[in-house]
Amino acid sequence: MVSAEIIAIGSELLTPGFVDTNSSYLTGQLNALGITVVMKAIVGDDENYLENALRGCLSRTPILITIGGLGPTEDDVTKKVVARVLQRQLVLDDATLGRIESLFKSRGITMAPNNARQALILTGSEILVNHHGSAPGLWISTGKHHIALLPGPPSELKPMFEKYCAPRFQKLAGGVTLARRVWRTTGLGESSLDARIAPIYTKHKNVETTILAKPGQVEIRLTARGKNTEDAERQIRELAEEIEHSLEDFIFARAEQTLEEVVGLMLVLKNATISLAESCTGGMVAERLTGVPGSSRYFMSSVVCYSNESKMELAGIPPLLLSMQGAVSEEVARGLAEGIRERANTTVGVGITGVAGPDGGSEEKPVGTVHIAVAVPGETLHRRFSFPGDRHRVRWQASQAALNMVRQILMKM
Ligand code: AMP
Ligand code: MG
Repeated sequence: MVSAEIIAIGSELLTPGFVDTNSSYLTGQLNALGITVVMKAIVGDDENYLENALRGCLSRTPILITIGGLGPTEDDVTKKVVARVLQRQLVLDDATLGRIESLFKSRGITMAPNNARQALILTGSEILVNHHGSAPGLWISTGKHHIALLPGPPSELKPMFEKYCAPRFQKLAGGVTLARRVWRTTGLGESSLDARIAPIYTKHKNVETTILAKPGQVEIRLTARGKNTEDAERQIRELAEEIEHSLEDFIFARAEQTLEEVVGLMLVLKNATISLAESCTGGMVAERLTGVPGSSRYFMSSVVCYSNESKMELAGIPPLLLSMQGAVSEEVARGLAEGIRERANTTVGVGITGVAGPDGGSEEKPVGTVHIAVAVPGETLHRRFSFPGDRHRVRWQASQAALNMVRQILMKM
């Protein structure tokens, strides 16, 4: 396995709201070439912290990419510190200086003297010409390391990486090809899911398995490396088949699709329409479904019937049922699903009622109790859930469970 580290440099990256998008981009590019990123760091514009970070990386890992700090100002210290760590000199490169001067001339601006600093090059490094800005990148190969210094602006970093670095890294990785699989599941918690698949993936040591859990959703990713596509595919195939088999119905997507996208696609395929009567989710399912482009083909209407009165008025729940069973009950969920389906004249009707908390729970119906019903012609499916977590988590998991029940009922249709 060839491994790499990334250091993103810039004090702005340590402020809230500024996202280091470059290192995510680089990680994706390196992975595609068969190189694993083992560590990422973000360092402010500080010589000492940067020096420590660089020394740490170089003591562990053969490939290092730094991002940023190549600009003309005092706080751009990357080249200076790398030169110190590698014990090299910084020298002015005439060709680069000429290129920067003509760039300024073509833009009709006079070059400030400190822009010449961008033409300082480490001895023994290769210049990566910047076709989209002034600061060149540098590539340094020592006996032990390969180091790329790239500029911070994504519009400069990306083309530079693709043109100059990707071919070099591909060679270093020895032409490794990756095969990948991804599944998104819902309805099984992370630990129950792992209990099912751990006996399978632990047998396949060559394939990297990662499990990413969020409320109401667990994603499984497999990555295999091979000499070529066929070899990588061969390694992943058997494991992928076993995992598919063990998770079956819990899998809702075999790509990075959301549950609402999948449900939308199924509604289109079945030529079906949908309406909702939501209580505790307050329109969250409607918001998710209508967030998908093209949803007007299947999404007809939705009511948020929070109060008892609105449940009677908007979904036709009989007053006696509400007083006898309570608003959070199987009967009311069924009534909401069937009532809205009939009123909106759709193929599918969904009813959701529950206790989102933090107040309103009782011994019989604690916080997190949610009844969901999905009505289609001739059948109404009902389930009672006990979701853990705070108000937002309960509501989110209820929306996820409702969409999943719609998915399951559509699969049978
Ligand atoms: P620098 O090369 O340090 O002068 O960076 C110039 C600009 O590039 C910064 O002001 C940011 O807008 C952007 N930038 C730097 N590093 C990153 C990063 N890791 N991810 C996204 N944008 C960045
Ligand atoms: Mg900077």
